[in-house]
Parts: sequence; structure tokens; C-alpha cells
Amino acid sequence: MVIVLRTGVPPEAIQQLVSVVDAAGGSAFVSRGVERTIIGVVGDDDVLANLNLHVYDAVSEVIRVTRPYKLVSRENHPTRSVVTVGSAPTLAHIGPDTFTLIAGPCAVETPEQTLAAAKMARRAGAALLRGGAYKPRTSPYAFQGLGERGLRILNEVRGEIGLPVVTEIVDAHDIDVVAAHADMLQVGTRNMQNFGLLQAVGGVGKPVLLKRGLTATYEEWLMAAEYIAQRGNLDIVLCERGIRTFEPATRNTLDVSAIPMMQSLSHLPVIVDPSHASGRRELVVPLARAGIGAGADGVMVDVHPHPEAALVDGPQALDDPAVEELGDACRRLAALLGRRTG
Ligand code: PEP
Ligand code: MN
Repeated sequence: MVIVLRTGVPPEAIQQLVSVVDAAGGSAFVSRGVERTIIGVVGDDDVLANLNLHVYDAVSEVIRVTRPYKLVSRENHPTRSVVTVGSAPTLAHIGPDTFTLIAGPCAVETPEQTLAAAKMARRAGAALLRGGAYKPRTSPYAFQGLGERGLRILNEVRGEIGLPVVTEIVDAHDIDVVAAHADMLQVGTRNMQNFGLLQAVGGVGKPVLLKRGLTATYEEWLMAAEYIAQRGNLDIVLCERGIRTFEPATRNTLDVSAIPMMQSLSHLPVIVDPSHASGRRELVVPLARAGIGAGADGVMVDVHPHPEAALVDGPQALDDPAVEELGDACRRLAALLGRRTG
């Protein structure tokens, strides 16, 4: 790191900082300019970061030159990772050489609705089935999901449809039951910084789909992934699902820049969710195309056999004709970009 000092700092104050760094096992190199003095510091970054050097009066700024996230950073892991979900023969791969479609109902409502949505997902070419049994709702009066019963429905549908299942966990108390039923655990937008939940999902040995928080920066998102990785689980897929902006015409604003940015900052796969990003059916396929074009490793969408009757997020759910269009766009664009589908 680099410590930039204020102007006119006396030599004793510089010596004090050098001693603090030395005492922590680091090495300090003082470089005196005409106007300013800076101190270059090398050593264990985590130890040095905890010295709170910015608190000293002599210090104007402390600049870290390494990333605060380590396990998920591309700096320390130049090859992009592949995350494998499910168990043979129903395996899905998410990574740089493939394009993976994830589709299913926003919420599991009934066995019939879930099976019908799963069939739509399969028709579109999905390699993974999504479906929420625990729903994080803005209103406590809204449908909260079927809970464990929903997980059992997903299990049955998985058996029938032959696709691995990703489902959201909203509370760390449910970790055992969700991990027992799911092939991949989803941490939703509203829980991206629920650090206890991140640690819990990091400890169960199943892949994790980590959605971006509504107002999270790239660094905050990667620090959230780092919580999971720190528990020994590097099977993490990042999902850009739109961020909150001033534009009310769409539910959120899909941040397409996040795809190449996150892929350059991290080795983890990055997918997009154009359904939750837009909240509008007619925008889902165009935004999916934009995501694929920007290099997304996959796309996740909501589908419903009867969107008008959906208990959650009906306006954004793809119906049969839209599913057809999405499947076609995914196959053609993925092939154009040299990615295998499935
Ligand atoms: C979802 O995928 O069902 C969901 C609730 O998404 P998000 O966390 O992105 O709002
Ligand atoms: Mn939803």
C-alpha cells in the first residue's frame, strides 16, 4: 500500500508511522518529494489494513494496491472458473466455454404449475431449473412461498424433468433443508450482504448463485462472494440482476458493464437475470441478447404457463411464444460467440 502524507509533516511523525509498520512486520520506504512525502509499504496486506494508518493526523490518504478480495479475484487466479451443478447424469456447467440457460417459475406454486414451467424451461434449452420455495417479498402480506413443501415439489419435478435445481435460501436457519433438496443455492439481492447467510451457504458444499445487491458496487459484490469462498466453497456464480436507478419505467436497470467488468476482476462465472432486471416480459429477450453479447456465461429467466395467474412476478414471466424466441436467441448467439450450449 501507499501512504500519502499531508504537507509539512514533521520528521518525528514520519518516523512514528515507519515504526508502526515495522512493528507489524511490514517494511516502509519513505520517499520525499518537493511538496509531499509518500511511504510505500509492503507486507501482509490484511495485517497492514488493520493498522488503521488513515487515522493518524500526518496521513492524507492510504491507497491499497492489491484487491481486498483474494480468493475470488482474477489477480490470484487468472484462469476463469467453471462451476458444475448437479450430479451425473444431470450435470450443468457454467463457465467461459459454455452458455447456460437457467429457467423456471419465479415461485413454486403447485406441482402442476412447476412441472409445466419446467417443461417450458427444457423446451427453451435450459440446463438448470430455477424455482423459489422461500420468497423474499417486499410486503409481509404477499405470498411468501411454499417453504419445505415447495422444495419437495421441486424434487419431484427434477426427477421427472431431469434438470438440476437452483432455489433461493432466505434464512440461514433453513440451510439444512434447502441444501438437502437443492443442487445449487441462490442468495438473492436482498441478502447479498447477509454475512451470516453467506457463511452458512459457504459451508454446505453445494454451488452458490450469488445475485448482486440492489445498490451494491462491484467490490461489495465480490466481498460478499469472498465470504462464501472463505468457508471453502469456490463454486460461486455471480448474477447481475439489475440495479436500482432513477428510471421508474423498468423495475431495475440491467448493468451490462458488470458482465465484462466482473469477469476481469474475478475468475467466477457471471450470468444475467433479465427478468428481475426489467420486470417486463417484452424486455426480457432483448436484454438476454445484450447479456449474451456482452459475454455472459449464462442467462436466468422466469417462465410461467399462465403468467396472468402467477402468484409472483407475472408481468415478467415468459409465456410459450417468448420462451420459443429466447431459446432460439440463446442457441444462435451462443454458437456465434463460440460457446457450447447446455
Ligand atoms: C428471484 O430470482 O426469484 C429473486 C427474488 O431475485 P432477486 O433476488 O434478484 O430479486
Ligand atoms: Mn421474482
